[in-house]
Amino acid sequence: MTGPRYRFAPSPTGFFHVGGARTALYNWALAKQQGGTFVLRIEDTDEARNRPEWTEGIIDALAWLGIHRDDPTFEGPYFQSALADQHVAAAQRLYDRGSAYYCDLTPEQVQERAKAAGKPGYDGYSRDRGLGPGPGRVLRFRVPPGTTVVGDAVRGEVEFANDTLEDFVLLRGNGTPMFLLANVVDDIAMGITHVLRAEEHLPNTPKQQLLWRALGAEPPAWAHVPVLVNEQRKKLSKRRDKVALEQYRAEGYLAEAMVNYLMTLGWSPRGDREIVPWSQIEAEFDLADVNHSPAFFDLKKLAAFNGEYIRALPVDDFVAACQPYLHDDGVPWPPERYRPAVFAQMAPLVQTRVVTLAEVPAMVDFLFQADPVVDPAAWTKAMGVAGAPAVLAETARCYATLDPWSAEALKDALDRIGTAHGLKLGKAQAPIRVAVTGRTVGPPLFEALEVLGRDETLRRLTDAAGRGTPG
Ligand code: GLU
Repeated sequence: MTGPRYRFAPSPTGFFHVGGARTALYNWALAKQQGGTFVLRIEDTDEARNRPEWTEGIIDALAWLGIHRDDPTFEGPYFQSALADQHVAAAQRLYDRGSAYYCDLTPEQVQERAKAAGKPGYDGYSRDRGLGPGPGRVLRFRVPPGTTVVGDAVRGEVEFANDTLEDFVLLRGNGTPMFLLANVVDDIAMGITHVLRAEEHLPNTPKQQLLWRALGAEPPAWAHVPVLVNEQRKKLSKRRDKVALEQYRAEGYLAEAMVNYLMTLGWSPRGDREIVPWSQIEAEFDLADVNHSPAFFDLKKLAAFNGEYIRALPVDDFVAACQPYLHDDGVPWPPERYRPAVFAQMAPLVQTRVVTLAEVPAMVDFLFQADPVVDPAAWTKAMGVAGAPAVLAETARCYATLDPWSAEALKDALDRIGTAHGLKLGKAQAPIRVAVTGRTVGPPLFEALEVLGRDETLRRLTDAAGRGTPG
């Protein structure tokens, strides 16, 4: 085995979290940068909460982020559930060496004793009782006296007094391994040299470091990356915040934008730009520069990143990227309605105006509808302006013979008509836009009319004029 071995060890118990995505990317960047390996281990031992589709979701999401199974840096996935025998065997070794002992107290009894003693946690009651294995007995680790110093690449040296660690459980009363044990046994078996994970695991680390040593292995280099917080500086939670990577993907965030943004949570590339290609991130990423404080997962900033990435796409790539989003409630626009050439014509105008790809259909659907779906409130508002009905009727007449049918000529004509009715161009545009597109916002109007064509524009203006002024 050569090169450092990083690993990402998610539990498949729900949608893949943006925080997990960042942890995976940090591991990936370092494994790549150092010519090492990225091991994916699915920690699927919680049978009640694991589902195969969550595992699929993780593998799929990683691939979306650029962490591909077929990349030579990638190893796995391994499944923790398949390794239970090794965990139990390791526990047995610890017991045989006196580093672990059985205890027959129930969780309630442990609590009662803690309460009576006024000190939380397990008090070591069975340490010297010499109990052997038996039904309902848990196996506990015998925490040695002293202090444990965890060298953390982000936080420096963190010291823990061992008497605060309590003799933690390795095997449950039914003989199944606990997370702390399984996680270490697997890391040792997989030759892991660097454990980079979420900060919430820092309290586990002194216990795990003791386990590494007790199992005769040299502990890995540790790194605990700060939590992600929302605008209220609260830890991102799946109940409160949008945390599922899948949701951002569905909304049309580009993978490259997401990756770049996630990497900058707590870390910045050199120079004054944060929007940088992956090659630069991979070359420069350094845990020594990762901030200790919680990182603000700023939706506005993410959107700005995404907008910038969208604008930077070659138009053809933008058109291709939009295709999965051109649908109505999941049903793709049918070929008799959707005309790719027309979309391609509009694409550059749309590309500069959207922040996510999911915004695209609303900007172009009027081009592909038999009749625009007019928002009644918008219609009432646009036509409620004095002069608007007259502008609409006159524009329809004027556009019938306009030559050439160009954005510029369309604009000049409406500008003239509006002025004659005391309306600035912005106000004069409103009824035209709603009549033709059904909405108050969209791509630049005159370019849109040019693409839509004279016949269809006139038909819509005439229909709208016939609908008349509301109320
Ligand atoms: N399975 C653990 C989790 O998802 C990860 C543990 C680790 O990275 O060591 O939180």
